[in-house]
Amino acid sequence: MGYILETSNLCHRFHHQGPALKNINMQVPENSIYGFLGPNGAGKTTTLKIILGLLKKQAGTVSVFGKSFDSDRIAILRQTGSLIESPSLYSQLTAMENLKVFQSIFQCPPAYMQEVLKLTGLNDTGRKQAGQFSLGMKQRLGIAVALLNRPTLLVLDEPTNGLDPNGIIEIRELLKSINREKGTTILISSHLLPEIEKLATHTGIIHKGELLFQGGMDELLLKRNQSSHLLLDTSNAERTISILKEYKIDTKDESGKLLIPTPDRECIAAINQRLVSEGISVYAIQHMQHNLETIFMNLINGN
Ligand code: ATP
Repeated sequence: MGYILETSNLCHRFHHQGPALKNINMQVPENSIYGFLGPNGAGKTTTLKIILGLLKKQAGTVSVFGKSFDSDRIAILRQTGSLIESPSLYSQLTAMENLKVFQSIFQCPPAYMQEVLKLTGLNDTGRKQAGQFSLGMKQRLGIAVALLNRPTLLVLDEPTNGLDPNGIIEIRELLKSINREKGTTILISSHLLPEIEKLATHTGIIHKGELLFQGGMDELLLKRNQSSHLLLDTSNAERTISILKEYKIDTKDESGKLLIPTPDRECIAAINQRLVSEGISVYAIQHMQHNLETIFMNLINGN
């Protein structure tokens, strides 16, 4: 699989502080939506700023489109769109007038302005000034600016911060359609797992400057399935525990019910038969799947 963006052993330290980034090896696959997930202060913005050259790199390498950022900075930035922190917009100007400013800076064809306005759903904002836009509209205009040069890679730092649920859905649908229709690779940071879960194809989880997990969303979901448990509710917990011991299964008491790591299907059936044959009533055998939140917390807490 080709990576559109790779960092190797990226490290960073702010003045008189401990390391903010420790050997970040990030790999963003081409055409993916890569969710860069981590709690506040984890190092997301610092990483994205270094990738875009907004913060001076101290150690490690960044390569984008197979080129080294150090030697091909301008060529890389020409093909990259970004929105880091809040968008810099002219509040007295309309959406179109804002875009005109950036169009003349980027030197891109005027037709692109209409295209990004339509894509971000701002084509009917007319004479309304950006200063009167809702937060969601401002974010969308920021994304429209970032898309103006038809980038191959779009880098967004927490674009849904501060938005209401409706605004969050709008941005999510917008990003999905940009990825689908234009094939744009999107690197997006967030501290909200449910948001990344609904949007991303790949994810990297960062905590205290370390990348704790990186892979496809499906790998993360597999991790969830592997760590699933069964909850057994029987009429005789004590005897059930000793039967389970024969199967070398450890149990955890959950107020009279027993939690066990999920055995294979045949083993579940055998245990059930054994319990019933000993006259123990089985009230419930229930799958207890960890949600992603638990996986995330386990990763962060080093379990
Ligand atoms: P958030 O979601 O809160 O923005 P983040 O994951 O983007 O978090 P960063 O902003 O990258 O985190 O911060 C990582 C660490 O570096 C934090 O401990 C932060 O306090 C520190 N830091 C960030 N910028 C600076 C700076 N300019 N000077 C000193 N320390 C900084």
